[in-house]
Amino acid sequence: MEGEHISGWISGQRRGVAGSWTVGFRRALLAWEEQEANRLYTLLNSVTPLCNTKTDELIWAEGTSRMFSVSSVYNWCESFLGPKLDMAGTIWNNCAPSKVQFFGWLAWHGKVKTSSFLQRIGILDSNANIVCVFCQNEIEIVDHILLFCPFVWRLWSNIVKWWGLQWVLSGSVNGLLQWWFGCKMKKLEKKIWAVIPLAILWSIWKHRNDCVFSDIQPNWEELCDIVKVRVAMWIKASPMDAVFSINDLVFNLQQVQYCIRNGG
Ligand SMILES: [Zn+2]
Repeated sequence: MEGEHISGWISGQRRGVAGSWTVGFRRALLAWEEQEANRLYTLLNSVTPLCNTKTDELIWAEGTSRMFSVSSVYNWCESFLGPKLDMAGTIWNNCAPSKVQFFGWLAWHGKVKTSSFLQRIGILDSNANIVCVFCQNEIEIVDHILLFCPFVWRLWSNIVKWWGLQWVLSGSVNGLLQWWFGCKMKKLEKKIWAVIPLAILWSIWKHRNDCVFSDIQPNWEELCDIVKVRVAMWIKASPMDAVFSINDLVFNLQQVQYCIRNGG
């Protein structure tokens, strides 16, 4: 039952074996909510009381008041999911434009509308070409077009090298982002680092669309430059006090890192 849609909290009790549950809601229920409530009553009333001489009560174990509340569910989810929610926070809290953050969020969840996805839901017919536009060799699925395609892989490797790192290919977009956002570094450096995968994912997808819909030829070197310039422009446009120029960021990134790490 989707409690958060019904009210901030519910409470209820029944007495003995013959009594039925009464559940108090904070506001009147809508028609669809009443159906949900009836399902809940059926479920509750199907349970035999453990003790006929004592009152059954609803007790919400999470939260000190022992009453259901949306905030206690949120806190429970947060403590249960841990790093997953931290990653969501990283995707949404950075200096990339919101449409780019949204795309990053879709990519993280594997919800990008690839050709194979569009064919599966019937938007593309069964004869449509759903092969990757970059390598022309594999079916276009999310992890391929954003990570495993040799064309895309060269882009990721080049950008990681730009940062001064060597790396190993992750098994999925999710795994890649887990690793990326889990890297520890100084605050300002982390702000630059955190926006890079979003710039890459966004740039790959835009380039893919240009190739699919405008007949542009894939060009990974140009794409590398576009990613670097996007990162630099978003950093410069953000409220953070970056003293570095776009030129510094694009062409002398490792010098910029050196200055940040040594407080320069
Ligand atoms: Zn490919």
